[in-house]
Amino acid sequence: MLKINFMEVKDPGIAVITGASSGIGESFARILSSQGFDLVVVARRKSRLESLAAELEQKQGISIEIIPGDLSQPEFMESIASYIEKINNIDVLVNNAGFGTGENFISKNSNIHVFMQMLNLHCGATARLMHAALKKMRKNDRGVIFNISSIASLILHGSREPMYHSTKAFISAFTEMVQLKLNFIKSKVKLKSICPGNTHTEIFGISGNAGPGKFGGPMYPEEVVNIALNSYKNRDIIVITGDHNVDEVMEWREVAYKKPGRYFSKDFSKTGLSKKL
Ligand code: NAP
Repeated sequence: MLKINFMEVKDPGIAVITGASSGIGESFARILSSQGFDLVVVARRKSRLESLAAELEQKQGISIEIIPGDLSQPEFMESIASYIEKINNIDVLVNNAGFGTGENFISKNSNIHVFMQMLNLHCGATARLMHAALKKMRKNDRGVIFNISSIASLILHGSREPMYHSTKAFISAFTEMVQLKLNFIKSKVKLKSICPGNTHTEIFGISGNAGPGKFGGPMYPEEVVNIALNSYKNRDIIVITGDHNVDEVMEWREVAYKKPGRYFSKDFSKTGLSKKL
């Protein structure tokens, strides 16, 4: 029997999901498999991927390829990119693998390798796998890439962890810029930067209990995934999950505009630039 899927296609193809061993990525795997997509799932914890695959293959009657490994490592990243380039019917890529850190970048004792791993994973793997997936998606003129960013990508102030916020900012900015290029050539391929706020997952430790954000939440991973999939119908590129998260982003925008040194004054005469213009 034909299952209803968010793309409303008769022949759902393959969905590649990174970071599918827990949290939001696992939830993407559960929901997309229930809609008839075959899956390729990637993460480091092989045993988690194996039990997820066994459960979903049995329950949903789809096929799942598991590829365990560390996507922050260039060789593994490259091997996944080559694998993706060969999938003729790739319909969905979810660049979701990510992590947070309690390390302090400016501390002399901080572990720089953690930050480089984050940079490679959030920015490097996202860009590399997008490039790989876009080859067949552009040829087929169909497909969607969900890059899992964060409201952190839109909150670039305060004393929060700079590498997490900045790498997420890259994801949102890059997603938007690449979508604009696709729009220019009237491609039907869609890109989404999904920006959740606090969501109950293992990013908060093995208990998976997130605290609320300033204006509400936390959310559950299924809610985030459903908002992401619903956004396929519209042209929005930056998708903030939930009104309470929009409120949090907007509050920070207000603060930012009032801060000296962050944005150019509209009054050019005070900057000296007006003479050059
Ligand atoms: P999670 O449950 O900890 O999931 C993170 C996933 O990424 C796991 O499957 C993990 O699998 C995988 N991963 C981490 N490092 C990896 C690496 N080097 N190579 C391959 N896979 C790796 O947390 P989550 O909240 O669902 O996180 C998913 C995404 O949502 C992240 O990008 C996160 O930044 C974003 N996000 C989360 C929240 C939130 O409140 N939860 C809010 C905004 C954005 P292995 O450990 O098995 O490799």
